[in-house]
Amino acid sequence: MAPVHIPSALSFELLGKCSVTKARAATLHLPHGTVPLPIFMPVATQASLKGLTPEQLEETGCKLCLNNTYHLGLKPGQATLDAVGGAHKFQSWPHNILTDSGGFQMVSLLKLAKITEEGVRFLSPHDGSPMLLTPEHSIALQNSIGSDIIMQLDDVLVTTSPDLARMKEAMERSVRWLDRCIQAHKYPERQNLFCIIQGGLDLELRRQCTAEMVARDTPGIAIGGLSGGEAKDAYCKVVDTCTGLLPEKKPRYVMGVGYPEDLVVSVALGADMFDCVWPTRTARFGNAITAHGVLNLRNAMYSTDFGPIEEGCTCSCCRSVEDGGLGITRAYIYHVTAKETAGAHLLTMHNVQYQLNLMKSIREAILEDRYPKFLKEFFGKLYDAKSQYPEWAVTALKGVGVDLME
Ligand SMILES: [Zn+2]
Repeated sequence: MAPVHIPSALSFELLGKCSVTKARAATLHLPHGTVPLPIFMPVATQASLKGLTPEQLEETGCKLCLNNTYHLGLKPGQATLDAVGGAHKFQSWPHNILTDSGGFQMVSLLKLAKITEEGVRFLSPHDGSPMLLTPEHSIALQNSIGSDIIMQLDDVLVTTSPDLARMKEAMERSVRWLDRCIQAHKYPERQNLFCIIQGGLDLELRRQCTAEMVARDTPGIAIGGLSGGEAKDAYCKVVDTCTGLLPEKKPRYVMGVGYPEDLVVSVALGADMFDCVWPTRTARFGNAITAHGVLNLRNAMYSTDFGPIEEGCTCSCCRSVEDGGLGITRAYIYHVTAKETAGAHLLTMHNVQYQLNLMKSIREAILEDRYPKFLKEFFGKLYDAKSQYPEWAVTALKGVGVDLME
């Protein structure tokens, strides 16, 4: 077993727990300021959120965003990052950054990636030369990036993989790789290494992995390998099982989750942190996230709709000019979205704000101990009738004491 204590550069202040579900509200103190939990973290792939400047991202109230190690490692590259003093300076972002390990990107983007005990072997997308990403290399890159939260390299398999032996191997290798990451980590006093629980949809593997990871005592804990097209019931069971075994005083991050319904249910199951490219990606297809569902503003029915994207939204796009906003209408988005990048920018602003506001209202509801009521109102707004509620959400919430149908 690995050394039991590694330094932590965060403190987790638990402020309130829902008296019915497993939801928690907390404040996470990180090297670049405090972050309210639960939180949604927008993904700024190449040190820039597609469609937003750092100032615009700042305006949304975002205190923690995600950068991709794989992309930053290729360009600008480690030497440039070292020269400029890390990603905060490089992108003039004064708040916190979380980086992934780079492994997931490789396995998902590069078809020829091969996983061995040493690391992930792949061919350089630039010149086709053979390259190897090891746990040590991933941590060195993240040390150069200087992110406040860094992720271990893990052996990621899609949850829908039917190969249980391979799933077990990936889970056990992820534990071994965590030990190598802990050894390689140069700055534990200013960067927080999170472990990643693997084990696919097999609850026994998940339990074993959780026990191994918890014993390593990293500052935070992630549940990985989900959001790979598995059934939502299976997803909920994994999250529920893992959170049930995790220490109360550490942040819990479920990777790759961002649909509003998934967020509210996962919080009820005891998770605190989430990330997903969906809100920004879907903006580029003309989609606006609202409390009443996703609206496609490329639809001609919006061509003469002079209301804001969402009534009452506080984003700078929806706020009226008198309120210091841009006063953008649905009709305007309809007009520009098909041909101009401006439409995607405006929708990105709105969607990121929607996600952050959603998390803010979730947090307030937990602090006031009215989260079950919040859940009922949330689903009530999203669907016209209870018969349309997704069964997985009804079942998962019933499991933590909330009956949406009553
Ligand atoms: Zn808005």
